[in-house]
Amino acid sequence: MCLSVDYGQRHQRELTAAAEVAKHFALPHLVLDLRTWGRLLTGSALTDPRMEVPQGHYADPSMKVTVVPNRNAVLLMAAAGVAMTDGCNHVLTAVHSGDHPIYPDCRPEFIESAARTMWFGTDRAVRLEAPFLHLDKAAIVRLGSELGAPMHLSWSCYEGDDVHCGQCGTCVERREAFSLAGIPDPTTYR
Ligand SMILES: [Zn+2]
Repeated sequence: MCLSVDYGQRHQRELTAAAEVAKHFALPHLVLDLRTWGRLLTGSALTDPRMEVPQGHYADPSMKVTVVPNRNAVLLMAAAGVAMTDGCNHVLTAVHSGDHPIYPDCRPEFIESAARTMWFGTDRAVRLEAPFLHLDKAAIVRLGSELGAPMHLSWSCYEGDDVHCGQCGTCVERREAFSLAGIPDPTTYR
């Protein structure tokens, strides 16, 4: 099953995209409502509408404002509870190596520790897996293309318009990934 989280992120567009991907694979899609939690996390460009979304690369110091404090610890453990309730024994997350410079809750040491926490917290019922942990976005695009993944349905942009803005950090990296992978980019950019 697919689990999305509404934590009051700047836009709902990524939740719509997630629903479309789930529909493509005929999988159930649940949306967990954590908006009251997200409202407390002021000061991040992803949860605070007063903050501007920076442009550039993930590794740039300006991107630090897109960190949502300890987000993945909360999201992953919430997912573990849902998994256990529904008899699932794996939780998969798509953190990747390009996230490591600025997002501490995407780094290998965090994922390793979260996996232990999840394993023991569920009485050894649920394993955490992060298959892209050591892959960059270009490698993920190559893999997605090989597997026939519906990459045209995926959403990266931090802004929530009808089409990708093409300028925010995640749009820049998305465009670069397709270009480096040598795979045609199906995305429409403003
Ligand atoms: Zn963008």
